[in-house]
Amino acid sequence: MTDPTPVRMVVGASGARLRLSSTGSAADTVQVVDGMSSWWSAIHGYRHPRLDQAIRDQAEKFSHVMFGGLTHQPAISLGRALVELTPAGLDKVFLADSGSVAVEVAMKMVLQYQRGLGRPERTRFLTVLGGYHGDTFDCMSVTDPDGGMHSMWSNLLPTQVFGPQPPALAKPAASGATDATDAPLAEVDAWAAAFRDVAAAHAHELAGIIVEPLLQGAGGMHPYPERCLQVFREVADEHGMLLVFDEIATGFGRTGHLFVSELVTPDVLCLGKALTGGYMTLAAVLTTEEVGRGISASESGVLMHGPTFMGNPLACAVALESLRLLTRADWKSNISRIGGRLRDGLEPLRDLPGVKDVRTIGAVGIVQLERPVDVPSATDAAIAAGAWLRPFRDLVYTMPPYVCTDHEVDTIVAAIHAAVRASLKATA
Ligand SMILES: *Cc1c(COP(=O)(O)O)cnc(C)c1O
Repeated sequence: MTDPTPVRMVVGASGARLRLSSTGSAADTVQVVDGMSSWWSAIHGYRHPRLDQAIRDQAEKFSHVMFGGLTHQPAISLGRALVELTPAGLDKVFLADSGSVAVEVAMKMVLQYQRGLGRPERTRFLTVLGGYHGDTFDCMSVTDPDGGMHSMWSNLLPTQVFGPQPPALAKPAASGATDATDAPLAEVDAWAAAFRDVAAAHAHELAGIIVEPLLQGAGGMHPYPERCLQVFREVADEHGMLLVFDEIATGFGRTGHLFVSELVTPDVLCLGKALTGGYMTLAAVLTTEEVGRGISASESGVLMHGPTFMGNPLACAVALESLRLLTRADWKSNISRIGGRLRDGLEPLRDLPGVKDVRTIGAVGIVQLERPVDVPSATDAAIAAGAWLRPFRDLVYTMPPYVCTDHEVDTIVAAIHAAVRASLKATA
């Protein structure tokens, strides 16, 4: 690049904190709380002794073997644990190597299922505006075509069908509630009618619906009402489409539900990001027996996908340990503790001129400005206030590691205040 943005060197990380250095030497380091969980993934923090140990133990056995014709205990145990933890019916697991690959695999599953059913003409996907599903080409095709980060590719991508973005949640309920149940009824009904119309107009060519349930992430940090999930389910069933929930960001407790899919069960579920507690890249796609049968009835008989590093044993071993940590702790009250502090701490920013909106869902806090964030000055101010933040577009936001103490959450809140003020000043 001819004009790269500044980067900071990480020289160490433990618990919820990163040690940063601008020169790379240990002499000038600062400690900051990681407000981003390394993009949703490091939910248990860094250098967790149990996760470190899980990697070491597996490395002493073997670090990788091909996953064609061979299998191994970490993959079997992880598959069982995922089937166990996710809603009933999602009994088949495919291990992929990143979130984007998981979305590709999910879309391929849907297409192969439709072929297996003798409907090869069903080749398109229905989604909603404002979404984000990853950076490879099929993922880009279902990401928001204008607002998203892939607009320059629009003439090269498969053309999918976009319905309207689900409406925003009403202003947050009283302190303590983190569930996204507060829905403006009339708006949801109007949205549902428009979404149903788009589906009906294209039903003959649609293979599936793919959405991020309850919270659109990198497309704009947009939480939306639970009732929209039921609409997705009904529309999919009505028109013989499969429903794919991309829970790569929302999975593993982040929204206050272990999986949003507990509210409405999809046919295909994508998981990634926090799956390994942020230690290694790994993703999983879960589906039903019925979809598995449909895929097997297609001309290839099997799902045609086999990445070299599929089911990597180190990644599976650390994912399994991360799931144990998550489910043996009281993650739910931890999420509402962090979410409550974020909401109380960020809500006052709503009245600041230049701030467009403040929203929270689960352990996610979002401040939207009226103009694009000035990232360098916002980042500097956040670090000076003690936290690492990575704003994008008009958003300063956080999804802290679940191990954050109250004090660490308050540090993140203070850093968001500082980042917002610094950006407003720089863009005034
Ligand atoms: C991050 C993300 C992806 C892509 O995952 P990668 O591991 O970055 O490829 C896909 N969908 C959603 C909802 C995501 O948040």
